Amino acid sequence: MEIQAMTAFEIKKGIEEGKFTSEEIVKKLFERIKEVDPKVEAYITLCEEEAIKSAKVVDEKVKNGEKLGKFAGVPIAIKDNICTDGIKTTCASKMLGDFIPPYDATVIKKLKAEDAVIIGKTNMDEFAMGSSTENSAFMKTKNPWDFKRVPGGSSGGSAAVVAAGIAPVSLGSDTGGSIRQPAAFCGVVGLKPTYGLISRFGLVAFASSLDQIGPFGKTVEDCAMTLEVISGYDKMDSTSSRKEVETDYLSALDGSVKGLKIGVPKEFFGKGLNEEIKASLEKVMGKLKEMGAIVEETTMPITEEGLSSYYIISSAEASSNLDRYDGIRYGYRAKDYESVDDLMAQTRTEGFGKEVKRRIMLGTYALSSGYYDAYYNRAQKLRKEIRRQFKETLEKYDLILSPTSPVLPFLSGEKSENPMEMYLADIYTVNINLAGVPALSLPCGFSKEGLPIGIQIIGPHFGEKKILKAAYALEKELKVDTLAIK
Ligand code: GLN
Repeated sequence: MEIQAMTAFEIKKGIEEGKFTSEEIVKKLFERIKEVDPKVEAYITLCEEEAIKSAKVVDEKVKNGEKLGKFAGVPIAIKDNICTDGIKTTCASKMLGDFIPPYDATVIKKLKAEDAVIIGKTNMDEFAMGSSTENSAFMKTKNPWDFKRVPGGSSGGSAAVVAAGIAPVSLGSDTGGSIRQPAAFCGVVGLKPTYGLISRFGLVAFASSLDQIGPFGKTVEDCAMTLEVISGYDKMDSTSSRKEVETDYLSALDGSVKGLKIGVPKEFFGKGLNEEIKASLEKVMGKLKEMGAIVEETTMPITEEGLSSYYIISSAEASSNLDRYDGIRYGYRAKDYESVDDLMAQTRTEGFGKEVKRRIMLGTYALSSGYYDAYYNRAQKLRKEIRRQFKETLEKYDLILSPTSPVLPFLSGEKSENPMEMYLADIYTVNINLAGVPALSLPCGFSKEGLPIGIQIIGPHFGEKKILKAAYALEKELKVDTLAIK
C-alpha cells in the first residue's frame, strides 16, 4: 500500500508484524512530503534526521523482540504551539520565530514513551487565533481538496497534512473549534477531548480555561489510538483531571449505535447554515435512525449568544497569557528602542500580527475597570448557562449532533479582512469549549463542488467512548474518502 493511504493503525501493525520497518515508513513519508508539501505548505519545521533516528531505535526493539509501545514506529505531525525539546516551536509568530523549547510538552513525552516518531511541526494561525490559518506569520496553508481555499483553522496545518497524505496522524489544539473546524474543512476526523483529559503542560497558552490538545486522523480508529496515548492525569498541569476514566478507547469501537439516544437542537439549523451542509446533516440523521439509534429534535436556546461569550472570555484570557512576550524574557526583541517601556511596545508592535493585537486589545478592554461587569462578568454568566444547557441536554440524550461549520471551506482571502464574518464560522464549535465537553468532527460527504462537509458529535464530560463508538459506526456506513491528494 502507498504511504499516503496508510493509517496509523496499519503502520503500527505492519511494524509489529515485521512487514516493514519504521525507517522504511519514515523515509517513504519524507519523499512524499518533499513532493507534496511545497504545494500545500503545511509544515513550518521538518525533523527528518531526528525522525530517522527514532525510527531506527524502534526497529532495533523489533529486532531484539523487546516490548513495543502503543505507537510503535508511527510518524506523527505536531501543531507548532506544542513544545518539542530541541525543535523550534514558533506558534506561527514572529514573536517565537527562533524559540527552541528546552523541554517536551507532556503529550510529546507520552507519545515518545509509546515509541511514536515526531516528523515535524505544522502551520497554524498565530497563537491559535483564527479560523483559516491565514494569520500565520510564515505562510498560507492550502486546502488539499482545493488549493484556492483555506484549510480552516487554527490547526489548519495539522488537518491539511492528514488530508494530503503527508502524515498519518497529527495533533492540534482546540480553544473554540480549532481542531473540529479544520477537520471538517479538510475532510478528516478531528477530536476535541473533555477539558482536563489531556495535559496542557507545554501547550503554549491562548485561553487557558478553554484550550485542549486533540488528534486528527483519516479514521476514527486512529483518533482513538492517539487519544489512548496522550490522555490521563498530569501533575504538571493543575487543571488536569484526577477523575478515574477508562482510556481503552479502541475497545469502544464496536460498530453499533443501536439504542443510542441522539438529540439535534433546532437552533443548529438557524439562518446562515449552508443548504448543502444542512442536507448532509439530515441525511446522517436518517442513516442513524436506520442503524437503530433514536434521533430526536430538541432545543438549546443559548446557541447564538455563545459566540460573544467566547470571544470576550478567550480574548480576556489571551490578553493576560500573552503579556509574557515582552522582549525581555524570551522570544523576539525589537532592535531600536529608547527605554524599557519602548522596548516592550516596539517588540510587540513588530512581533505580533494584526489578529493577535486585536484580541489583546479586546481582552484588555473587557477586563478594565468600569467595563469588567458589562463584558467579562456577563460573558461568565452566559458561560454558566451554556454549561447548564449542555448538562441538561446530555442527561436526556447520549449524544448531540450538529453541523461542525455553518459554511463550506471558503476562498483564501475571502474573510480575512472581515473579522466578524470569520468569527461567525465558529458558531457551532465555541459553546462546546465553554461547556468543557468533548466533540468530534466526522467527514460525512462532499458538496456538489467536491468540498468536504463535516458533522459534529458532542458527548457528555468524559464521554469520549460514546462519541468514538457512534463516529466509528457512522464512518463504516458512510464510507467517505479522507485522502485528498492520491
Ligand atoms: N477560531 C477560533 C478563534 O479564532 C478558535 C480558535 C481555536 O480554537 N484555537 O478563536
